Amino acid sequence: MNSVVVRTLFSLFVPGGLVVFTTAIIVYLGVLDKSLSALVHIYPYLVAVAGILLGWRFNRSRLIFAIFVLALAERGLLLFSSGAGAASTAVGQTVYNAIGFLLPLNLVFASRVKERGILTFYGIVRLSLILLQVFGIFLICRYQNWGLAALLNYSLSDGHLLSWLPLSLPSLLSFALAFLLLTVGFIRHESVIENGFFWALLSVFLAFAVGKIGPISTIYLSTAGLVLVVSVIETSHSMAFRDELTGIPGRRALEEKLLQMSGNFTVAMLDIDFFKKFNDRHGHEVGDQVLRLVASKLTTISGGGKPFRYGGEEFTIIFAGLNSKASMPHLEKLRRRVEQTRFLIRGSNRSGKRLEKAKGIRGFRKRAKVTISIGVAERNEKYTSPEQVVMAADKALYRAKRAGRNRTST
Ligand code: GH3
Ligand code: MG
Ligand code: MG
Repeated sequence: MNSVVVRTLFSLFVPGGLVVFTTAIIVYLGVLDKSLSALVHIYPYLVAVAGILLGWRFNRSRLIFAIFVLALAERGLLLFSSGAGAASTAVGQTVYNAIGFLLPLNLVFASRVKERGILTFYGIVRLSLILLQVFGIFLICRYQNWGLAALLNYSLSDGHLLSWLPLSLPSLLSFALAFLLLTVGFIRHESVIENGFFWALLSVFLAFAVGKIGPISTIYLSTAGLVLVVSVIETSHSMAFRDELTGIPGRRALEEKLLQMSGNFTVAMLDIDFFKKFNDRHGHEVGDQVLRLVASKLTTISGGGKPFRYGGEEFTIIFAGLNSKASMPHLEKLRRRVEQTRFLIRGSNRSGKRLEKAKGIRGFRKRAKVTISIGVAERNEKYTSPEQVVMAADKALYRAKRAGRNRTST
């Protein structure tokens, strides 16, 4: 269980949190003070080019819009609000607070909308919405509509808990709302991209919290873009290596893991018993739900085992550095845990709907029982290559099935 918590925390923090914290430490320690001006001249451009290229190649319009908004904000701030603090000129202050108010909301928007392409109707509407905001800020400053500006610039009075932050009240509220909305996605860990937006927002916040627009705010805003770029790369990687249905590593990841194996290791092949019948009785969709639930049970394996979906209703667990005797108790514990679990399934399939109707209840739910059979083999003098060990585990699985299922065989 502990390893699950550690893995979850790790996946929340890496890569986004790591990138933002590294940036913060570099800025704080002043490591780059000398080369800062050189870095500031290339960093934003590198991020923008990487973001646009990736967004275009991987068809990630949300990345492109987020990068575009960040770039506009960064240029706008440098152009109008840089120098001796944000409050140096009326225009500078208004631009600073307008961007502080709009940027978090735009990031939340980009994180929530569906992928709808760039050069499409939706893409053009979204692009127009961004440009409309720029035009709005321009109008406020150009026609000196200081009423609206005063609203944007409204700040907390001195002595307030948050008055040390150089942000206006609307900006603070906008950041708070954005953090709230993105934290929900972050905690639910909906996707690597959602996590990326959370960390990107934190980096944007740091850019504003510094209070002085210049190289440091540029670095934080660029890092926000970098986090999004990295999260898109990470997503593409995990799409290739993660099994889509169950969310655990898939066949490709297993092949890669097997190539890395050396020394002592054990392979366990697991197969759900009578799954064909289960599908026939409950429907394929419920079958899929059960596959997901079984996979989530497999992630709780103790003894350092690493689970993979081999294909269909078959899974593989690899124990590096353990022989089969030492792996057995962990596998037996898992087998019993699956046997004892009553999987709660939602009836969204046809037979479920019928039952739902017949019983006159909404949200039909059912508890199902499944068992698994396990075949175990270790690397030894007889089975030296990973393929041989996998084949031996497969044979052991066959023996477990023949011996009556719901058991572990070597
Ligand atoms: P045994 O105890 O011998 O393993 O019986 P079984 O019915 O589980 O064996 P078999 O391997 O013949 O059947 C596997 C079934 O698993 C076939 C298919 O209906 C089902 N299955 C395979 N992949 C999926 C999947 O992705 N989703 C669902 N719902 N069912 C799947
Ligand atoms: Mg099978
Ligand atoms: Mg089976």
